[in-house]
Amino acid sequence: MSRTTRIERYRNIGIMAHIDAGKTTLTERILFFTGRIHAMGEVHDGATEMDWMPQEKQRGITITSAATTASWKPMRGPFAGTAHRINILDTPGHVDFTIEVERSLRVLDGAVAVFDASQGVEPQSETVWHQADRHGVPRIAFLNKMDKVGADFAMCVRSIQQRLDANPVPVQLPIGAGPEFRGLVDLPRMRALFFDEETGVPTEGEIPAELLAEAEALRLRLIEACAEVDGTVMRKYVEGRLADLTEEELERALRMGTLQRRLVPVLCGAAFKNKGVQMLLDGIVNYLPAPSDLPAVEGETPDTRVRVTRPANAEEPLCAIVFKLMHDKAVGSIVFLRVYSGTLRTGMAVLNTRQQRRERVGRLMFMHANKREEVDEVHAGDICAALNLKGVRTGDTLCAPEAPVVLESLHCPEPVIQLAIEARSRADQQKMEDGLARLASEDPSLHVEVDPETGQRLLSGMGELHLEIIVDRLRTEYGVEARVGQPKVAWRETLLQKVRQEYRHVRQTGGPGQYAHVVLEVAPAPRGSGLVFVDDTHGGVIPKELVPAIE
Ligand code: GDP
Repeated sequence: MSRTTRIERYRNIGIMAHIDAGKTTLTERILFFTGRIHAMGEVHDGATEMDWMPQEKQRGITITSAATTASWKPMRGPFAGTAHRINILDTPGHVDFTIEVERSLRVLDGAVAVFDASQGVEPQSETVWHQADRHGVPRIAFLNKMDKVGADFAMCVRSIQQRLDANPVPVQLPIGAGPEFRGLVDLPRMRALFFDEETGVPTEGEIPAELLAEAEALRLRLIEACAEVDGTVMRKYVEGRLADLTEEELERALRMGTLQRRLVPVLCGAAFKNKGVQMLLDGIVNYLPAPSDLPAVEGETPDTRVRVTRPANAEEPLCAIVFKLMHDKAVGSIVFLRVYSGTLRTGMAVLNTRQQRRERVGRLMFMHANKREEVDEVHAGDICAALNLKGVRTGDTLCAPEAPVVLESLHCPEPVIQLAIEARSRADQQKMEDGLARLASEDPSLHVEVDPETGQRLLSGMGELHLEIIVDRLRTEYGVEARVGQPKVAWRETLLQKVRQEYRHVRQTGGPGQYAHVVLEVAPAPRGSGLVFVDDTHGGVIPKELVPAIE
């Protein structure tokens, strides 16, 4: 058992995926296997543990990045037998909620990218993958739905390499695919694991003879990838001493390569059938970074704007970022915090540098899947919820008053859709104002202004679905019935200009040929699928995901 400090035993991770790849099912299975929930609800029947808001349950999509704390003792690898805390930040798969993805990417340290093994890389996976690249987030890949007809491990690995320009390194090989999927070869150990159909419990066995050659070829590829990032592996590789390579050496090199973002370990399974989830949990602990593996967070002093760095250490002065606000009827406002340095205690005075206010910290808690655990203090590396903090907005920094710092806030893409709304009655007017003010404090991608001509409120947001949910929340949470106008493209001209520039670039560099035409029009897509662009020769529509870098 390795000796590690508390912060080295944290993993703050996100699970990112194209919608329908199985992220919700996987998250729920992770919570089940980490012992936090004991009955697995079917996804989309309203019983899923991660999805909180009624809209999420009705629509069967995950909108908010709920943070959930779980605990896992890896069964294999360098950290075997040591309990680790895994904080899971849920990232939505729907394009309209890119701001939610941004906000969790801002505070997580590593991510699991989930793919549908029968589809490979899909357009939204590309969008989220590139966002994660921008934030420098180390990743592992999980090829889910290996039990589905058409599941193709090799095709997925190729598509990650080609479409995402990544360096995928399989650390497992599936045994069978589709209905025949029954286990995995663990490549660093060269052992087979067969899953119990009912419980998913793996038992070790011999690698089936017909897979041996393929497993050996993949293991060699794994060793080569490890050699590129680790001197010890390289030495043994060039000296031809492959038999001397230990499992620990390979695991250490895989971890280093992942942290340096030079490779992406690829694992697989079928969340729905409970297959491969425990190995993925081992992979999360073994390959993804602890907060202490990452560079110290940077910020600046509020007045003099001098750059400061704060290492992830509980003894440093406190600094934390507010990455999410939620409102709960029973407890009031819940502020989700990522603590980067120092220690935060209940009753302590903190400075909100962005709002220039001092606050006293009320209750602190960890949110588990099915309970809230109240604690007296939280430390560098923790993700927690604070109650009764007033006047806080998403993106604010909280710090020790004697060591003030402002951390970089959340990157907010420009809104793309605008909607005019007005309260149906005068009585509802004030309620609507209050509701909108609160919703805008929770969601930095929602902009509210007054139309100078009509006096109506203009809401701008990330897509039709985003604004529909805002209107829905006004009704369900604030009891406001609003009249809603037709959605329009916000700042249409700016957008058009950007898209045209981008297309010119695509044309010059010989990018995706069939779309490389001049964009003539930009319009809201039917039912919340973002924007469509009409081009000159096709006269058709181009889905927003295929137009790079318009944010
Ligand atoms: P999300 O949109 O990414 O959160 O995906 P969900 O978890 O909601 O899953 C989408 C659909 O795929 C649901 O019908 C799931 O039951 C199904 N699904 C999830 N995991 C698996 C799997 O491992 N195998 C198969 N065959 N289906 C799965």
